[in-house]
Amino acid sequence: MATATKPNVRTYQMYVNGKWVDSKSGKTFPVYDPSTEEVIAYVPDAGPDDVDRAVQAARAAFDEGAWRSTTAQERGRLLFKLAEKIRQNTAFLAELETRNSGKPIVEAEYDVGDVATCFEYYGGLATKVVGYVNPVPDNALSLSMKEPVGVAGQIIPWNYPLLMAAWKLAPALAAGCTCVLKPAEQTPLTILEVANWFEEIGLPPGVVNIVTGYGETAGAPLVAHPGVDKVAFTGSAAVGKLIVKAAADTVKRVTLELGGKSPNIFFADADFEAAVDGALFGVFINQGEVCSAGSRILAEKPIYKKFVDAMCEKAKKIKLGPPLERETKMGPVVSKEQYDRVRSYQDVGKKEAKLAAGGGRPAGLGKGYYVEPTIFYDVDNSAKIAREEIFGPVAAVIPFEGEQNALKIANDTPYGLAAAVWTRDIFKAMRAVKSLRAGIVWVNHMQPTYVEAPWGGFKQSGFGRELGPWGIEEYLETKQVHINLNEQPIGWY
Ligand code: NAP
Ligand code: MG
Repeated sequence: MATATKPNVRTYQMYVNGKWVDSKSGKTFPVYDPSTEEVIAYVPDAGPDDVDRAVQAARAAFDEGAWRSTTAQERGRLLFKLAEKIRQNTAFLAELETRNSGKPIVEAEYDVGDVATCFEYYGGLATKVVGYVNPVPDNALSLSMKEPVGVAGQIIPWNYPLLMAAWKLAPALAAGCTCVLKPAEQTPLTILEVANWFEEIGLPPGVVNIVTGYGETAGAPLVAHPGVDKVAFTGSAAVGKLIVKAAADTVKRVTLELGGKSPNIFFADADFEAAVDGALFGVFINQGEVCSAGSRILAEKPIYKKFVDAMCEKAKKIKLGPPLERETKMGPVVSKEQYDRVRSYQDVGKKEAKLAAGGGRPAGLGKGYYVEPTIFYDVDNSAKIAREEIFGPVAAVIPFEGEQNALKIANDTPYGLAAAVWTRDIFKAMRAVKSLRAGIVWVNHMQPTYVEAPWGGFKQSGFGRELGPWGIEEYLETKQVHINLNEQPIGWY
């Protein structure tokens, strides 16, 4: 699929209307390996013209029937074929994901498995979309039917590049929508490789279009385009707010999966070893670049000191290093920009709270955007490091006294994506489940996510739900059909 290559570095094209194309301007931008800081590829720098071309293709595939006339069974089978291709190529995709994002290879392998599972799940769900017969009182047959919403504009972040693409494409395709997907500028490579198989599995041209570009020049025109019926966005709250405003002019359907500052609450009666593990896993997995990261760790006073000490002891042993090495448990953060951002929060934290572990750049790793797993303690919930999403391996530990105090601190945030509570007391756990204002509450765990269960936020973490039957619902319209069974004139006038 590639056209030109610069020495040893491949230049990709993007996938529009079933063809591999350059941007109309001919411009490209570099893609990096964050563990070496080197350019590993170039991709087209799409502008408004390219977005327009992709939307037109998606429109035609929808309006002229190439996709809409496909049966649910056919769409389902196609998603299964794609899943199979992805499974067969797990090693290749995982390695590329790791090279491009910096995530440890073992985590990337899990991601690719989850990607295939997501396509399989929605392949199965395609044939389970059903309507209703509405029990209206007149001599009529009243139906509600489900129909695809149309062309979906989909914009995703860089932390789980291929998985976020799957969460967007799989339910949309199962529903019968056509798609224009803009990957994050930092991590466009794995979805471009997957697009290589679209034709082979039988996806008609224009059904899925991948447009590589920057947020301002490719994302914004996609959101504003009158040919787009629905925007599905995952990313920061700041950009999410811009998207809601931009979509208003054309009254687009919008779903938003935004960030978080999720509380991970540890009561004194929790299993201590499991709790320490859960606190670290909750905030440091994927270098902390997780929307549901348990970045506010609330620990009850009787265990507080011991808990912070145990966390630090274990955090210091986390194996940082080249992400392609199988023993590596933490790779570099995704980019120079993200590295600078996380480092600046480490500095802010040192002024606002006490540093227990990390706080800088790890020694002895040479190049690469590595940051130490960092733990601040005695953090006040009003501190910047307790309020703002850092999206890196930085934990804020906050002490609390009793259940009411814990829940008050936990809910005192503009976000509401996730929360977790650790205790052996079932009554305490269930009271917390009820009072925590978040789209997911884990009890005695943090982070597992399943395609069968809903995902999304309360409050400023967004609206709408992905995954499960909720995920396909966001790509469906409901049409009411009224069939008069009375052959007489209305007889009103
Ligand atoms: P971001 O800066 O908001 O970018 C997300 C996407 O939006 C990127 O593709 C970006 O393009 C694009 N974009 C930027 N400005 C835009 C505009 N004006 N109009 C349209 N699109 C625009 O977020 P990020 O830094 O990539 O990702 C981190 C954030 O994502 C965190 O806040 C995290 O919590 C959130 N996240 C949430 C979930 C969830 O399920 N709730 C999952 C993963 C991540 P560029 O590539 O050019 O920046
Ligand atoms: Mg960005």
